[in-house]
Amino acid sequence: MSSDINEIKEQIAIEVRRMHSRLIDMSQTMHANPELGFAEHKAAEMLTGELEEHGFEVERGVAGMDTAFVATYGEGEPVVGIIAEYDALPKIGHACGHNLIGTWAIGAGIALRRAMPDLKGTIKVIGSPAEEGGGGKVIQAEAGVFNGLDAAMMMHPRDRTYLDRGSLAVTPFEVEFFGKPAHASSSPESGVNALDAVIQVFNSINALRQAFKPNTRVHGVITHGGDAANVIPEYTSASILVRADDQAYLDELNEKFRNIVNAAALATGCEVKITEGLTYQQRVCNTKLVETFGENLTALGFDYEVPPAGAGVGSSDIGNVSQLVPTIHPYLQICENGVGGHTQAFAEASKSERADQLAADGSIMLAWTAADVLLRPELREELRSTFQRQLGREPAKG
Ligand SMILES: [Zn+2]
Ligand SMILES: [Zn+2]
Repeated sequence: MSSDINEIKEQIAIEVRRMHSRLIDMSQTMHANPELGFAEHKAAEMLTGELEEHGFEVERGVAGMDTAFVATYGEGEPVVGIIAEYDALPKIGHACGHNLIGTWAIGAGIALRRAMPDLKGTIKVIGSPAEEGGGGKVIQAEAGVFNGLDAAMMMHPRDRTYLDRGSLAVTPFEVEFFGKPAHASSSPESGVNALDAVIQVFNSINALRQAFKPNTRVHGVITHGGDAANVIPEYTSASILVRADDQAYLDELNEKFRNIVNAAALATGCEVKITEGLTYQQRVCNTKLVETFGENLTALGFDYEVPPAGAGVGSSDIGNVSQLVPTIHPYLQICENGVGGHTQAFAEASKSERADQLAADGSIMLAWTAADVLLRPELREELRSTFQRQLGREPAKG
């Protein structure tokens, strides 16, 4: 590594620490004003305002979403993308800590820009709404927002520091059955029972379970099961997630799932409506970019753990980004082991003193990694060839 890069990295750290109190302020403001997916108006306004103030050109309403944005500084290649999330959860607010994800991305972007006034290339801070259901990145990916990036990166808070962790591909389904009501005792024969249909769906999934490949997850809830015990239910609904560790097998499972639902309708005589949501693809982190991030994390004095083999994983729309360009999605520990995401305790952790302290460190790790991508052509070539090896195709061109 040239001394140039080291000097720039030193400068990045200085720039981040200079704006540390502003970063804490942004993180706490988002935390105190939790906004649900696609309605993150205050957060998007604050983050884009901050980026504009620091010389970024901001495009709002990206890919048809009011609260999506792309903030750009510089021009031409190479291009690095730092992704911000800022959506919260119903009732429990920032219990996934996306206030920190947004803060880290903004801190990294601004520090890079300030530390590299003679930048040859482009820094993009990409604001992605609605990770918690809604799939902002799926919509942005389809609109080509990530195409042409030499690297895409974001970081997620959790109870452990991990450099790399996979995720499953998932398709969400809403299923509705329409039967015919009748008195459940005096004239059941004249009804069509929509509850039987929805129960049949869950039974058929369970019957199929034995034949699932490892890491397959199919699970759901009945969201409407009828209205009264003495009435044959005329309407029922269920919300079901189908997950697999690769797209081809997910396609196969989705087909089986639709067959199960249609068969339940046929068997019971119900009408059926299947609504399929956006698919989050499986995450394949670029191992070379993971390694580079790991070096920066270690250089900043942090340790990391390797996730236990066979540990369960969830799904995220960063998967769709990772299928297009070299991508990382590391995790930074912000609380004691065992504090799970999507809990009140994690919401507390996301605004704790420790989280505030990490507002700076997280921004530095990301910015250092982005600086490596921008300044080291041989690294960019390795990211590309690694992507090629892992996914069997070239990264998406801009
Ligand atoms: Zn979450
Ligand atoms: Zn999250």
